[in-house]
Amino acid sequence: MKEGEDPVQGPGSGYIGRFAPSPTGPLHAGSLVAALASWLDARAFNGGRGGRWLVRIEDVDTPRCIPGAGEIILQQLAACGLVPDEPPLWQSARGAFYQQALDRLVAEGAAYPCACSRKDIEEAQLALGHARERHAALPYPGTCRHGLNGRGGRSWRFRVPDGLLPTRWSDRRLGEQQQEVAAEIGDFVLRRADGLWAYQLAVVVDDAAQGITHIVRGEDLADNTPRQILLQRALGAPTPQYLHTPLVRGDNGEKLSKQNGAQALDLHDPLQALAQAAQALGLPALAHPHNTCTGDALAQWANAWFRNYNGPS
Ligand SMILES: [Zn+2]
Repeated sequence: MKEGEDPVQGPGSGYIGRFAPSPTGPLHAGSLVAALASWLDARAFNGGRGGRWLVRIEDVDTPRCIPGAGEIILQQLAACGLVPDEPPLWQSARGAFYQQALDRLVAEGAAYPCACSRKDIEEAQLALGHARERHAALPYPGTCRHGLNGRGGRSWRFRVPDGLLPTRWSDRRLGEQQQEVAAEIGDFVLRRADGLWAYQLAVVVDDAAQGITHIVRGEDLADNTPRQILLQRALGAPTPQYLHTPLVRGDNGEKLSKQNGAQALDLHDPLQALAQAAQALGLPALAHPHNTCTGDALAQWANAWFRNYNGPS
């Protein structure tokens, strides 16, 4: 292997999907839904002949990651019969590839250093007459687009192309989607002021390196898609097909997540956990749950998945 060459094999045609959890804790009911959906979509591909399914541990946001959680997630997946077709990819080992991508964007004028603190950005937004609405993030006002004016660079941002048309994509469940990235988000961060790699850059670099053709993930991530498409274009990477699955909500109506106290899965009974995840995805209940093994249950749901999504193209 040449120095600097990406060690990840990106096989060419067909279907390559992935499940990409952040190891901020063990799998919970919501993250198992995302895992099962991506696994079923890969297995149902090509009339049930199946594609490849990979797992990527997104441990790039290191302060939030819990040591050992990635290994626990892999054990939980295995207990559910969800075994990746290749050894998992760990984002924490991939900094050199993110740096290469950033260097390329900088060289092409598609990324620039930003000196702004959060407070600087809020003040610039106020000066532009934008009051911050509750829960709504305002777009970056572009302060550092044309230079740092003697200030020190803290983070790196992607330069959203001038005159960009709305970024459109066709989601296999949500239908036609679009976002005006310049107006709604602005130039977004690729490398944070604390030196950590931003989710958007790491995901796009790794999806390209792993040859991902189909992304199946929770609906809460849908609004990241336009930013990722812009980065794919800037880095010369293909745009995968997208399917965003319904979110699992807790009793309080909030999205189930580790942040709002979702319990780790109890895997004494993996089939029960899988059956709940399948129900959340609108898949049929098992006819004989007490004498069905995990593998047979997964096969039944893969058939139903194929019918629901009409065979992912
Ligand atoms: Zn700035």
